[in-house]
Amino acid sequence: MYDVIIVGLGPAGATLARLLDKKYSVAVIDKKGSGEEGFRKPCGGLLAMDAQKALSRFGLTLPKEVLVDPQIFAVRTIDLDAGATQHYQRFYINLDRQKFDLWLKTLIPNHVEIFGNCLCTGIRKQGEYYDVEFMQGDHRRVISGKYLVGADGANSIMRRYLYPDKKIRSYVSIQQWFKERNLTPFYSCIFDSKNTDCYSWTISKDGYFIFGGAYPKHGCRERFENQKERLGKLGIHFGEALRTESCLVLRPSRLDDFCTGEDNIFLIGEAAGFISPSSLEGISSAINTGYYLSKVLNAKSSDPCKAYRRKTFRLRLKLYLKVLKSPFMYFPPLRRLVMASGVNSLKMIRSN
Ligand SMILES: Cc1cc2nc3c(=O)[nH]c(=O)nc-3n(C[C@H](O)[C@H](O)[C@H](O)COP(=O)(O)OP(=O)(O)OC[C@H]3O[C@@H](n4cnc5c(N)ncnc54)[C@H](O)[C@@H]3O)c2cc1C
Repeated sequence: MYDVIIVGLGPAGATLARLLDKKYSVAVIDKKGSGEEGFRKPCGGLLAMDAQKALSRFGLTLPKEVLVDPQIFAVRTIDLDAGATQHYQRFYINLDRQKFDLWLKTLIPNHVEIFGNCLCTGIRKQGEYYDVEFMQGDHRRVISGKYLVGADGANSIMRRYLYPDKKIRSYVSIQQWFKERNLTPFYSCIFDSKNTDCYSWTISKDGYFIFGGAYPKHGCRERFENQKERLGKLGIHFGEALRTESCLVLRPSRLDDFCTGEDNIFLIGEAAGFISPSSLEGISSAINTGYYLSKVLNAKSSDPCKAYRRKTFRLRLKLYLKVLKSPFMYFPPLRRLVMASGVNSLKMIRSN
């Protein structure tokens, strides 16, 4: 029997587990292992300024083991529809996402019980409490808790339990890893409305070149391969894929898509829909919502679900404003105009 059971140990769950008051007995269930083995979150691993700010508010500094080579200061934006390219300055930190998650996990205090390498398979309400079922190896285990927290990402079992009929716009994200063959590593952002109404990216990390994108579910693999072929014609060569990974990624399109939970079940991070619909940046919202919920639970609010929803108001508004901004990136004629105007773009200088 626990006061709080958290499912998921990404940035959202790890932040909440780190900040919950010692008076609570807390259990965390996560399908990741404790090293390189087991589940790895497919992710670009770019720490945006909002996420850097979220970490710095806790006085946290990144250990260098989490960083990868190289650090890149510009994004090459490629519009395959218009055949246009522009460069824009960016302030990302290039990370090893798995190592970043494992580092966040090391910050969790010892009184929190972590069930690693365990898959949560079911939730049942039993009077005032909830039973949470999970697989630990071949063993089925059940623990009970008063408060449940879904920090389990885009395909959240908690969200599906609470809102079985709710559909949030989502894509299949596919990433492939290749040996780096580019003389100058680069980060790019690719728009190609023939294959997706979202976007794709390339990024270099420690001698690997990663190509990924978010695609409508129908025909996602075919769209991915088509896009590789189109990029090949632009001179971006891939070679043999060393690893392919995929997962669901949410892309909220309505204010109503952000669901924060009810009945003593809370959703934080991407499980609640907190991810930028324009850039798919989600680490900052995951950290921030983990923090908001810790404040609410530590304050022993009389109606914690309502208090948590209220705390997320500004974030919900901020993300929804990004939905309104999206046409400037995703509506081809508008994007073409923005790129052609050169506003905020970098004038690139070729070296001999
Ligand atoms: C391909 C891709 C690239 C991205 N690139 C970036 C980027 O560069 N920068 C950025 O800021 N954001 C990026 N995002 C978004 C970002 O990855 C997420 O928004 C962020 O990780 C959300 O954090 P979270 O803690 O809410 O969930 P997650 O990081 O998804 O963590 C969920 C955790 O729950 C666990 N889990 C899930 N289901 C179960 C279960 N049933 N039982 C037990 N454990 C479970 C998983 O092991 C995982 O550790 C990207 C997303 C994708 C898909």
